[in-house]
This record gives sequence, structure tokens and C-alpha cells, in this order.
Amino acid sequence: MSDTATQYEKPLPVPSDISAPYWEGLNAGELRLQRCGDCGRYVFYPRSVCPYCLGERLEWVSASGRGRLYSYTIVRRAMNPAFAADVPYVFAIVELEEGPRVTTNIIGCALEDVRVDMPVKAAYDSVTSEVALLKFEPE
Ligand SMILES: [Zn+2]
Repeated sequence: MSDTATQYEKPLPVPSDISAPYWEGLNAGELRLQRCGDCGRYVFYPRSVCPYCLGERLEWVSASGRGRLYSYTIVRRAMNPAFAADVPYVFAIVELEEGPRVTTNIIGCALEDVRVDMPVKAAYDSVTSEVALLKFEPE
């Protein structure tokens, strides 16, 4: 797990009125997605209008937290000094069971064991007392 708020020096998310339910969910250990009340599709990232049908009836629902590794790279040189102590680490795109893809990190897995299409589940990394980040680990 991560350090306390005063020690965390990486960039932090700034929730908006639209994305606040997503961040509140992560902080409560729950992955929340928007689902369109018109076409039924799941939407990520959070927004005010469905990108598929332009419907405005997006509702927040709990997601399973399960998905598969769609793609990844191993970061060996930090582009931001705040991440220098983390290298090497896995920067990944996970395709959620509900359909949307999210950028994330894979944790709890040796680098040499990471494979495209491996099943993964959500892990909630509480980096401060108010912010948890969505990461994934092998299921
Ligand atoms: Zn829609």
C-alpha cells in the first residue's frame, strides 16, 4: 500500500461534479461505471452524455471489478520524477467485463508473469485518506 497524504507526491485526480461518484466509489472499495438508460451500454470515462447514442440518462451502477488484460507495457524509465522509485512497473489497459477499457497498473504479479488476456480483478490503492486509485491484480 501507499504512503500517507503528506508523503504522497505523485499527481492526484481532481474530481469534477461528473466524475465525483467514480472517485467516491474507489475510495469505498467499489468500481462504479455509468450505464446509459437509453441504449444500455456502459460508459467510461465519466461524462454527461452517452458517447454511443447521445442519450443523457446516464446512471451510476456497480461494476464487477473483473476484466482481462487488453494490453500493457513495462515502464523502465520514469517520465515523471515522482514515479522514479516505482520502475519497473506495468502500465496497462484492462478491458472490463462490462466492456469499457481503463488505463491502470497491474500489481501483485511478477513482471515476467504478466500476459495479454490474463484475467484480472480490481484492487483499490488508497494513496491518501481521501483518494484511492484503481489498479488490477491477477484474479
Ligand atoms: Zn446510450
